[in-house]
Amino acid sequence: MLQFDTIIIGAGISGLYQLHKLRDELNLKTLAIEEGSDIGGTWYWNRYPGARCDSESYTYGYTFSEKIYKNWTWKEKYPKQNTILKYLKFVEKKLNLRKDILFNNKIISGKYLEKKDLWEIKTNKNKIFLCKYLICAAGSLSATNIPNIKGLKTFKGKYYHTGRWPKKKVNLKDQIVAQIGTGSSGIQVAPEIAKIVKKLVIFQRTPNFSIPARNKKLTKEFISNFKKDYEKIKKRLRKTPGGHTFSFPKRSVFDFTLKERNKIYEKAWRKGSLSFRACFGDITKSLKANKTASKFIKDKILNTVNDKKIAKILTNFDHPFTSKRPTLNTNYYETFNRKNVELIDLKTNPIIKITKKGIKTKNDNYNFDKIIFATGYDALTGPLLSLNLVGKKKTKLKNFWNKSPKTYLGLMIPNFPNLFVIQGPGSPSVLTNVPVQIEQHVEWITNCINFLNIKSKKSIEATLGSAKKWSNEIKKLADASLFMKAKISWYKGDNIPGKPKVFIPYPGGLPRYRNICNKVEKNQYKEFLIK
Ligand SMILES: Cc1cc2nc3c(=O)[nH]c(=O)nc-3n(C[C@H](O)[C@H](O)[C@H](O)COP(=O)(O)OP(=O)(O)OC[C@H]3O[C@@H](n4cnc5c(N)ncnc54)[C@H](O)[C@@H]3O)c2cc1C
Repeated sequence: MLQFDTIIIGAGISGLYQLHKLRDELNLKTLAIEEGSDIGGTWYWNRYPGARCDSESYTYGYTFSEKIYKNWTWKEKYPKQNTILKYLKFVEKKLNLRKDILFNNKIISGKYLEKKDLWEIKTNKNKIFLCKYLICAAGSLSATNIPNIKGLKTFKGKYYHTGRWPKKKVNLKDQIVAQIGTGSSGIQVAPEIAKIVKKLVIFQRTPNFSIPARNKKLTKEFISNFKKDYEKIKKRLRKTPGGHTFSFPKRSVFDFTLKERNKIYEKAWRKGSLSFRACFGDITKSLKANKTASKFIKDKILNTVNDKKIAKILTNFDHPFTSKRPTLNTNYYETFNRKNVELIDLKTNPIIKITKKGIKTKNDNYNFDKIIFATGYDALTGPLLSLNLVGKKKTKLKNFWNKSPKTYLGLMIPNFPNLFVIQGPGSPSVLTNVPVQIEQHVEWITNCINFLNIKSKKSIEATLGSAKKWSNEIKKLADASLFMKAKISWYKGDNIPGKPKVFIPYPGGLPRYRNICNKVEKNQYKEFLIK
């Protein structure tokens, strides 16, 4: 049985950086294990037409190396899936990581051997490894969710999830296609496939607020400036709550007249960016202020979509803007002006079952060649639970988390010594420009392991008390936010039947979170049990 100092689960942005840090800086014998046949994580799996980043390219990636930052040239405002994959391959090559990654192996179980202070892990190819430290870089949006709709197995056509899109080209030309789901991925995929298919029927559970991306080629001047400003950008990304370059101003919606306010909204709408939510400081905080932004977006949609009935379904919001993941789009609303696109409101016309030939709803029967599930993920906890981890005293993670995910800082779990999680539940993760959060986590974990090794320690474990305190802190912050005003949100597990209904990520912003983590480190991890 092969033994390593550290094993990393996943070879996406997190796994790659963690491998570099542990192997090249701490000189640890490290192996990354990846289910896919190549690196990239999200950007390896999400090959669906229209897949693109919503974070601006020059902010989405690694900032730990000035050389890497400056040697890669982003050419578009929002990079597409394939470009990000190329970028990650470029980084992987620079750091020579591939030789320490085992591909095509999915970790299916992990057991902590208390007497040896080692993790024993097993892959679906029956490979067994031992390691002292196990690091989950398995992603927060990597466990795809296909809803359990009656009859799916009987469907004679093909079906796909956007997050597991085949490498081989999917032929959609002149096909009759169903798309279920209108979240971030659904909003991206619909305009692209509508151009190819004979007919596209989109099934919407709830509408999402979406801002135009206004993607564009970056000018030479812009490219040269962001490279020149590397240090400034790096600092800036660490200072803002979301890890983007934009921050939230002090100004309130109500400091302005309606006309002035709408001028500010209009300017941001024309610019197109996630920063629309930062037009005013109170949009994400006060329901009253939020309503003004929601109304502005609603009016824009109503003015774009020709068919009034469809426009009404697309604007029948049941949540405040930003209480669910904000999305960007390229011609999403315009897509509904095409003759070959139909919208089904699942609130009034729910799916009864999937049939051999298509989908039966309460009011209709549809025939389809293909079904696309843009139905998202079992976010944050899903990838960890599927690892079937068993910690100290035979504690199963599934049981330990049956009422809520319990972590300290989203980084460590009581009863699971020497197990670190990157972007875990209880960390800012999905509420941020994720690579910024990833770098912070990888660096914290690396420092912690270095500390343990220098001090010749056997293990580190989060205490139940600190995990409880951390959950309370998250609840307090979430309850005071607009996030809890969303009826159905994957941020609080509503999309997965049986999943505990608690707010999962840490909603206090990156700088505050980083400070807490830094203090813990400076304090020599006194809050943890160290053996
Ligand atoms: C469609 C989409 C768009 C997104 N857009 C943005 C955006 O605009 N901005 C942003 O900041 N973030 C975005 N994200 C979030 C994105 O996931 C992160 O930005 C980032 O890519 C996460 O990197 P990661 O390495 O932590 O996780 P991932 O990229 O998810 O990689 C995890 C890897 O772990 C592997 N893995 C999981 N379980 C196992 C197992 N049991 N055994 C072996 N391997 C395993 C997976 O195969 C995967 O390759 C988006 C996510 C999706 C799905």
